[in-house]
Amino acid sequence: QVKSREVEALMNKHLPKRTTAILHDLGRTGDQLDLTVYAVGGFVRDLLLDIQNMDIDVTVDGDGILFAETFAAQFGCRVKSHQKFGTAVIVFPDGFKIDVASTRLEYYVSPGALPTVERSSLKMDLYRRDFTVNTLAIALNGESFGKLIDYFGAYRDLQSRVIRVLHNLSFVEDPTRVFRAIRFEQRLNFKIAKHTEDLIKNAVKMEFLEKLGGRRLLSELVQILREKEPLKGIGRMASLGLLRFIHPSIELTPAMQGALEETRYVVSWFDLLYLERPYERWSVYFLTLCEGLSEEQFLGTCTRLAVAEHYKERLVEMRKEGERLIAALERKVAGSGKVENSEIYFTLRGLPVEVLLYHMAKSRSAEVKRCISLYFTKLDGMHPQIRGEDLKELGVAPGPLYRELLDLVLSARLNGKAASREDEIRLVREVLGGV
Ligand code: ATP
Repeated sequence: QVKSREVEALMNKHLPKRTTAILHDLGRTGDQLDLTVYAVGGFVRDLLLDIQNMDIDVTVDGDGILFAETFAAQFGCRVKSHQKFGTAVIVFPDGFKIDVASTRLEYYVSPGALPTVERSSLKMDLYRRDFTVNTLAIALNGESFGKLIDYFGAYRDLQSRVIRVLHNLSFVEDPTRVFRAIRFEQRLNFKIAKHTEDLIKNAVKMEFLEKLGGRRLLSELVQILREKEPLKGIGRMASLGLLRFIHPSIELTPAMQGALEETRYVVSWFDLLYLERPYERWSVYFLTLCEGLSEEQFLGTCTRLAVAEHYKERLVEMRKEGERLIAALERKVAGSGKVENSEIYFTLRGLPVEVLLYHMAKSRSAEVKRCISLYFTKLDGMHPQIRGEDLKELGVAPGPLYRELLDLVLSARLNGKAASREDEIRLVREVLGGV
């Protein structure tokens, strides 16, 4: 068994000083109110695995809201509480947050009635969790600070790197746990225990996953696709027969495996190049998984998965538009062999990163892949050096001609035919002279 001293040593080694200090402060507030306070769940799991995790979840044996309010008053924080669930979020002035839950729920059955108090215990609270590895708690109160509480063999499972449910009805109770099991297995590089895997297979066979609403299914899928190595998760979903919940025709054929590997290659290339550029990486994989679907099927899938309306429209429309534009690019490549930079630019301009990466992975033409890569690395973000004011000085009356002239100048610049501002002005003069 792990000693309090060892847990404290882990904290001192892996957590920022401030976090450890906050954990002590939480324990002290607990002491003052005579409430027992624990850090629980993923935070404890990751601490023992030496993985950085700043999401502190705290459970209070008693009234968590009272606890959160007292703590906040002492340390200048704000509190957002949900009476109905007995939960609160403590928000520090710099935005740092701590989630607080109660093992005692107080709720009002009808307005004006006395509160009904439901008392549970830490053990009951932890028993409701998904997997053993998420059931660890660390005591935070002064005397017992650092004591590891392990009711369900979590420490053993962490050491043998196993994902295990707490009871046989776990997946029936909440089928999203099937996807969570896969996510944790892949992310932590653990293995789903044999019996737990059998329970998953059984839940799939008994059609319990059919009960899952589209929104929850999407949220789980997105989380798997957002992981560092989504292919492992997708492979696991396939072997457990889960891809059909996206669409019945989706299978992990060798061709699909190849397409996903190409997608991973393209996505890693892009991420290395543009570390900070935000885009929805999960949707590149999603588009690849759905590449065999007709427009109607794709729309149906997005609707069933409750993809947000504006994002759904964007995905459906851009997938179609991307298809059309890439086909045009392929024809140009096939026709002339070499495509001008300006043609690449004006063909691809306006397509979202996600769609471009999807097509970059999908296209069989090495030249088309090169065009898209060139667009990212060089062409996108190029502008003419002259502006509207320069055109005004040249005597051009403001109007749609401005756009045309600036695009013309940009074309020349993209194709290396106008290197300087002077070149651009000369070009405009030539064009205007010829009008
Ligand atoms: P992540 O790093 O993905 O956030 P996490 O373990 O912190 O991992 P959360 O999804 O934030 O996971 O959930 C917090 C805790 O709530 C988990 O440790 C888990 O025990 C519990 N939990 C979340 N979802 C479920 C569920 N569907 N069924 C049971 N317990 C759950």
